[in-house]
Amino acid sequence: MDGAAARHADILIEDDRIAAVAPNIDASDARRIDAGGCIVMPGFVDAHRHLWQGALAQIAPDVDLGGYFALLGDHGPRFTSDDVATGVRLGAAQAIDAGVTTIFDWSHIMNSPEHADVAVAALRASGIRAVFAYGFPNRPDWLMGSSKPHPEDARRVRRELLPGDDDLVTMALAVRGPEMSSIEVTAADLALARELDLPVSMHIGSPFAGVVHAVEALARHGLAGPDIQYVHANATWDSELRIIADTGGQLVITPSVELQMKFGLPATGRALEAGLRPGLGVDVVTSAGPDMFIQMRAALQAARLDALLNGRRDVTAGDALAFATIDAARSIGLGHRIGSLAAGKLADLLILRPPAATPINDPVAWVVLAAHPGNIEAVYIAGVRRSGTACPIAPQEAA
Ligand SMILES: [Zn+2]
Repeated sequence: MDGAAARHADILIEDDRIAAVAPNIDASDARRIDAGGCIVMPGFVDAHRHLWQGALAQIAPDVDLGGYFALLGDHGPRFTSDDVATGVRLGAAQAIDAGVTTIFDWSHIMNSPEHADVAVAALRASGIRAVFAYGFPNRPDWLMGSSKPHPEDARRVRRELLPGDDDLVTMALAVRGPEMSSIEVTAADLALARELDLPVSMHIGSPFAGVVHAVEALARHGLAGPDIQYVHANATWDSELRIIADTGGQLVITPSVELQMKFGLPATGRALEAGLRPGLGVDVVTSAGPDMFIQMRAALQAARLDALLNGRRDVTAGDALAFATIDAARSIGLGHRIGSLAAGKLADLLILRPPAATPINDPVAWVVLAAHPGNIEAVYIAGVRRSGTACPIAPQEAA
């Protein structure tokens, strides 16, 4: 992902960072992992997932967005902090096993301060790199049309639990935005985020958006900015996508769930036309798998359909891989630290072993079109193996 894929290379890792990527690195005192015949790629970056739902995996295969909200209304208010701890641990394990090394955890289950405490603790215990996006209680009075401002407890979590912006787990604010609250509430929530120096994420352009066009409303009130990550945008106008690009904002698309829950066509091609490179996300495992392979394929194929039906900008396999790695990293503010294999970046990477009968004519095409979580041999986060079997160790180490 750092220019052309190298056919044969060594990767030297020192502590939690990549020190070098080059053929035949001389590091005779290093522990050697033999990944011969494998593909090494940057770990996937899931730019949008509600990780607390890990225990609800695939419980709702046949619902649209309305059905999903009914499910939230049923489960959300009853989720205890123990449930959140279990959900986040399961969700993080599902993600790591599927090759996701960094996740933006949109945590709209902040029913009490203890819910926040256990969610952060569960992320840390899992070993995943995460942006913990502090949300709001999952109760009806905090959702559609709510006039409540963001929970003040976010101040405590920023001050006491997540003050650092370079740690394995960092913080953001997950706000409801104009489509799930009001423009006044949104202005107050953005002011809180900016006071705490936190990036912000909000859902936009779902079928429930109705007459509210969040980006247009934010721009009209002078609130759009480079610290905002927008998620979905299926019903968002082209002119709003240009506003996001012009104000330096970020866009995340969750194509599998958007197609399955009938949000409409993913905005991938329209985003590229507006000058935005979207990151991808799984969103909810209630109705999708936990891996990014399916997200790349759904994004690619839905964009091809949009190009055919509506003349929208086409998308390549290389684009899809970038959306799930370096573009997703940029979309969560970590493009300078992760998302590609390059000297100086953090050592978050996957080793994939293609099946013996598969000639790797084009490694990018194989990863995007044919690979799946079962091909993952090992998952490294910050230089530590977090999933997979140990790869064969080269003879020097064995001796
Ligand atoms: Zn979401």
